[in-house]
Amino acid sequence: MPARKFQDSKLVIASHNRGKLVEIADLLAQFHVETVGAGDLGLIEPEETGSTFIANAELKALASATVSGLPALADDSGLAVDGLDGAPGIYSARWAQTQTGQRDFTFAMHKVHMALEQKPDAPRTASFICALSLAWPDGHVESFEGKVDGTLVWPLRGSNGFGYDAMFLPLGGDLTFGEMQPDAKHAISHRADAFRQLVEQCFEV
Ligand code: IMP
Repeated sequence: MPARKFQDSKLVIASHNRGKLVEIADLLAQFHVETVGAGDLGLIEPEETGSTFIANAELKALASATVSGLPALADDSGLAVDGLDGAPGIYSARWAQTQTGQRDFTFAMHKVHMALEQKPDAPRTASFICALSLAWPDGHVESFEGKVDGTLVWPLRGSNGFGYDAMFLPLGGDLTFGEMQPDAKHAISHRADAFRQLVEQCFEV
């Protein structure tokens, strides 16, 4: 069945992360869509209780769409390390949680490195994954999953980007995501891959 098309003029971005709001608004500007953040509407973020990226993106998008009465777009992303059976995966943000309750991604990358050190024979390959879900107030939802494959490096390289970027070398590249310019990363990233699929399926190009 073909995907449902987005035909409204206003879209809720079901995220409280300013960086994501700006990035998504930029990507959708060409479709003349007015975007509004879930936080700006006073919507509460649901707990991410799903066991997959898509399940979490869907529950966030559906929560915002049903409460606001507007279509809503949510994403869920993370780093899946092959040698760690896909961890940290959907827990990528949680792996950065320190004892003081702050998020520290240098700490999270050390954790990944230490876990791999325990498994010298395990592959160092990994993928960034991004699920995007577009939900409507009637409960209909369209979901897409984007991916970029690579290998993990140590020591960390580069201070651009965020999260696990400094340890991720995309397949066939010489620079880690932490060393790349934002435009170069955005051209090949898991988020760009998911967006391409969303736009192809749900927006009139
Ligand atoms: P969430 O999707 O907001 O639950 O967070 C996913 C986590 O995965 C982020 O906090 C990052 O640590 C990590 N992550 C997702 N995408 C990227 C990326 O493009 N670069 C580096 N880390 C990422």
